[in-house]
Amino acid sequence: MSLLQQLEERSGHQCELCASKKELSIYEVPPISAGGVDGSILICNTCVEQIKTPESVDSNHWRCLNDSMWSEFRAVKVVAWRMLHRLKKEGWPQDLLDMMYLEGEELRFAEASGDHLDESEKVIHRDVNGVVLQAGDNVVLIKDLKVKGSSMVAKQGTAVRRISLDPENAKYIEGKVGGTQIVIVTEYVKKMAEKE
Ligand SMILES: [Zn+2]
Repeated sequence: MSLLQQLEERSGHQCELCASKKELSIYEVPPISAGGVDGSILICNTCVEQIKTPESVDSNHWRCLNDSMWSEFRAVKVVAWRMLHRLKKEGWPQDLLDMMYLEGEELRFAEASGDHLDESEKVIHRDVNGVVLQAGDNVVLIKDLKVKGSSMVAKQGTAVRRISLDPENAKYIEGKVGGTQIVIVTEYVKKMAEKE
Protein backbone atom coordinates (compact mmCIF):
# COMPACT_ATOMS: atom_id res chain seq x y z
CA MET A 1 0.00 0.00 0.00
CA SER A 2 1.42 3.42 -0.93
CA LEU A 3 1.97 6.17 1.64
CA LEU A 4 -0.95 8.10 0.16
CA GLN A 5 -3.23 5.09 0.46
CA GLN A 6 -2.14 4.51 4.06
CA LEU A 7 -2.87 8.12 4.96
CA GLU A 8 -6.23 8.06 3.15
CA GLU A 9 -7.21 5.00 5.08
CA ARG A 10 -6.04 6.46 8.39
CA SER A 11 -7.87 9.74 7.88
CA GLY A 12 -10.99 8.47 6.17
CA HIS A 13 -10.05 10.43 3.01
CA GLN A 14 -10.04 13.84 4.64
CA CYS A 15 -7.61 16.56 5.73
CA GLU A 16 -6.28 15.46 9.11
CA LEU A 17 -6.29 19.06 10.32
CA CYS A 18 -9.54 20.61 9.05
CA ALA A 19 -11.50 17.59 7.71
CA SER A 20 -11.83 19.06 4.23
CA LYS A 21 -12.20 16.43 1.53
CA LYS A 22 -10.88 18.65 -1.26
CA GLU A 23 -7.42 18.75 -2.87
CA LEU A 24 -5.71 16.35 -0.51
CA SER A 25 -2.02 15.58 -0.61
CA ILE A 26 0.77 14.23 1.58
CA TYR A 27 2.53 16.66 3.91
CA GLU A 28 5.80 15.32 5.26
CA VAL A 29 6.25 17.00 8.60
CA PRO A 30 9.68 18.66 8.87
CA PRO A 31 12.30 17.55 9.68
CA ILE A 32 11.61 15.05 6.92
CA SER A 33 13.98 12.50 8.52
CA ALA A 34 11.02 11.10 10.45
CA GLY A 35 9.20 10.38 7.18
CA GLY A 36 6.82 7.55 6.44
CA VAL A 37 3.29 7.28 7.68
CA ASP A 38 4.32 8.19 11.21
CA GLY A 39 5.94 11.44 10.06
CA SER A 40 3.34 12.52 7.49
CA ILE A 41 -0.23 13.70 7.38
CA LEU A 42 -2.94 13.92 4.76
CA ILE A 43 -3.60 17.59 4.23
CA CYS A 44 -5.81 19.85 2.09
CA ASN A 45 -4.51 22.63 -0.11
CA THR A 46 -5.81 25.41 2.17
CA CYS A 47 -3.97 24.06 5.22
CA VAL A 48 -0.71 23.35 3.45
CA GLU A 49 -0.59 26.78 1.76
CA GLN A 50 -1.05 28.52 5.09
CA ILE A 51 1.59 26.38 6.77
CA LYS A 52 4.08 27.15 4.03
CA THR A 53 3.34 30.89 3.78
CA PRO A 54 2.85 32.20 7.33
CA GLU A 55 1.91 35.68 6.00
CA SER A 56 -1.26 34.23 4.48
CA VAL A 57 -2.62 32.72 7.68
CA ASP A 58 -6.33 33.10 8.32
CA SER A 59 -6.59 32.36 12.02
CA ASN A 60 -10.28 31.47 11.80
CA HIS A 61 -9.48 28.57 9.51
CA TRP A 62 -7.44 27.07 12.30
CA ARG A 63 -10.34 26.78 14.72
CA CYS A 64 -10.32 23.25 13.28
CA LEU A 65 -7.36 22.51 15.56
CA ASN A 66 -9.85 22.39 18.41
CA ASP A 67 -10.61 18.87 17.17
CA SER A 68 -7.46 17.76 15.38
CA MET A 69 -5.16 18.55 18.31
CA TRP A 70 -6.64 15.48 19.99
CA SER A 71 -5.61 13.17 17.14
CA GLU A 72 -4.08 9.89 18.22
CA PHE A 73 -1.44 10.29 15.50
CA ARG A 74 1.83 11.93 16.41
CA ALA A 75 2.40 13.85 13.17
CA VAL A 76 -1.08 15.41 13.34
CA LYS A 77 -0.60 16.43 16.95
CA VAL A 78 2.81 17.93 16.18
CA VAL A 79 1.49 20.08 13.30
CA ALA A 80 -1.48 21.20 15.42
CA TRP A 81 0.86 22.17 18.25
CA ARG A 82 3.12 24.15 15.88
CA MET A 83 0.20 26.03 14.32
CA LEU A 84 -1.27 26.86 17.72
CA HIS A 85 2.08 28.31 18.71
CA ARG A 86 2.21 30.45 15.57
CA LEU A 87 -1.25 31.81 16.38
CA LYS A 88 -1.04 32.01 20.15
CA LYS A 89 -1.22 35.82 20.22
CA GLU A 90 -4.89 35.46 19.23
CA GLY A 91 -5.63 34.11 22.70
CA TRP A 92 -7.78 31.06 21.99
CA PRO A 93 -4.83 29.05 20.56
CA GLN A 94 -2.98 29.59 23.84
CA ASP A 95 -5.98 28.21 25.72
CA LEU A 96 -5.87 25.09 23.56
CA LEU A 97 -2.11 24.77 24.02
CA ASP A 98 -2.62 24.87 27.77
CA MET A 99 -4.73 21.72 27.43
CA MET A 100 -2.26 19.93 25.19
CA TYR A 101 0.43 17.75 26.62
CA LEU A 102 3.39 16.60 24.59
CA GLU A 103 6.44 15.02 26.14
CA GLY A 104 9.72 13.33 25.35
CA GLU A 105 10.38 12.51 21.75
CA GLU A 106 7.03 13.91 20.63
CA LEU A 107 7.84 17.29 22.18
CA ARG A 108 11.32 17.36 20.64
CA PHE A 109 9.79 16.59 17.23
CA ALA A 110 7.29 19.42 17.72
CA GLU A 111 9.96 21.90 18.82
CA ALA A 112 12.29 21.13 15.90
CA SER A 113 10.61 23.77 13.72
CA GLY A 114 11.11 26.59 16.25
CA ASP A 115 7.47 27.67 15.92
CA HIS A 116 7.15 27.80 19.71
CA LEU A 117 9.80 30.52 20.00
CA ASP A 118 8.81 34.17 20.03
CA GLU A 119 10.45 36.34 17.40
CA SER A 120 12.44 38.07 20.13
CA GLU A 121 13.78 34.71 21.31
CA LYS A 122 15.17 33.84 17.92
CA VAL A 123 18.55 35.47 18.31
CA ILE A 124 20.28 35.49 14.94
CA HIS A 125 23.78 36.90 14.63
CA ARG A 126 24.81 38.43 11.30
CA ASP A 127 28.05 39.91 10.10
CA VAL A 128 28.44 43.30 8.36
CA ASN A 129 27.14 41.80 5.13
CA GLY A 130 24.16 40.15 6.73
CA VAL A 131 25.70 36.69 6.60
CA VAL A 132 24.48 34.49 9.46
CA LEU A 133 27.18 33.70 12.01
CA GLN A 134 27.32 30.48 13.95
CA ALA A 135 29.32 29.40 16.96
CA GLY A 136 32.69 28.12 15.83
CA ASP A 137 32.89 30.34 12.76
CA ASN A 138 36.01 32.35 11.94
CA VAL A 139 35.66 36.07 11.32
CA VAL A 140 37.93 38.95 10.42
CA LEU A 141 37.75 42.44 11.93
CA ILE A 142 36.85 45.12 9.39
CA LYS A 143 38.12 48.04 11.49
CA ASP A 144 40.47 48.76 14.37
CA LEU A 145 38.69 48.12 17.65
CA LYS A 146 39.64 49.43 21.05
CA VAL A 147 39.36 46.68 23.60
CA LYS A 148 37.36 47.84 26.58
CA GLY A 149 39.23 47.97 29.85
CA SER A 150 42.68 47.74 28.29
CA SER A 151 45.03 49.73 26.09
CA MET A 152 44.92 47.05 23.45
CA VAL A 153 43.70 47.76 19.95
CA ALA A 154 42.52 44.85 17.85
CA LYS A 155 43.69 45.72 14.35
CA GLN A 156 41.59 45.68 11.24
CA GLY A 157 42.23 42.44 9.35
CA THR A 158 42.79 40.40 12.52
CA ALA A 159 41.30 36.94 12.26
CA VAL A 160 39.20 35.80 15.20
CA ARG A 161 38.81 32.07 15.20
CA ARG A 162 36.05 29.89 16.64
CA ILE A 163 33.81 32.66 17.84
CA SER A 164 31.04 32.13 20.36
CA LEU A 165 27.69 33.90 20.25
CA ASP A 166 25.99 35.98 22.91
CA PRO A 167 22.82 33.90 23.35
CA GLU A 168 20.80 36.92 24.43
CA ASN A 169 21.96 39.64 22.11
CA ALA A 170 22.33 39.32 18.34
CA LYS A 171 24.72 42.28 18.30
CA TYR A 172 27.54 40.59 20.17
CA ILE A 173 29.93 37.74 19.63
CA GLU A 174 33.02 36.75 21.56
CA GLY A 175 36.40 35.56 20.50
CA LYS A 176 40.10 35.61 21.29
CA VAL A 177 42.36 38.38 20.05
CA GLY A 178 46.00 38.19 21.12
CA GLY A 179 45.11 35.60 23.72
CA THR A 180 42.44 37.77 25.32
CA GLN A 181 38.76 36.89 25.14
CA ILE A 182 36.90 39.98 23.97
CA VAL A 183 33.36 40.95 23.10
CA ILE A 184 32.97 42.14 19.51
CA VAL A 185 30.07 43.93 17.83
CA THR A 186 28.83 41.86 14.89
CA GLU A 187 28.72 44.82 12.51
CA TYR A 188 32.52 45.08 12.72
CA VAL A 189 33.24 41.58 11.53
CA LYS A 190 33.10 39.70 8.28
CA LYS A 191 32.72 35.96 8.16
CA MET A 192 35.74 34.20 6.67
CA ALA A 193 35.34 31.61 3.96
CA GLU A 194 35.93 28.02 5.13
CA LYS A 195 39.44 27.79 3.70
CA GLU A 196 40.89 31.16 4.82
ZN1 LIG B 1 -7.18 21.22 5.82
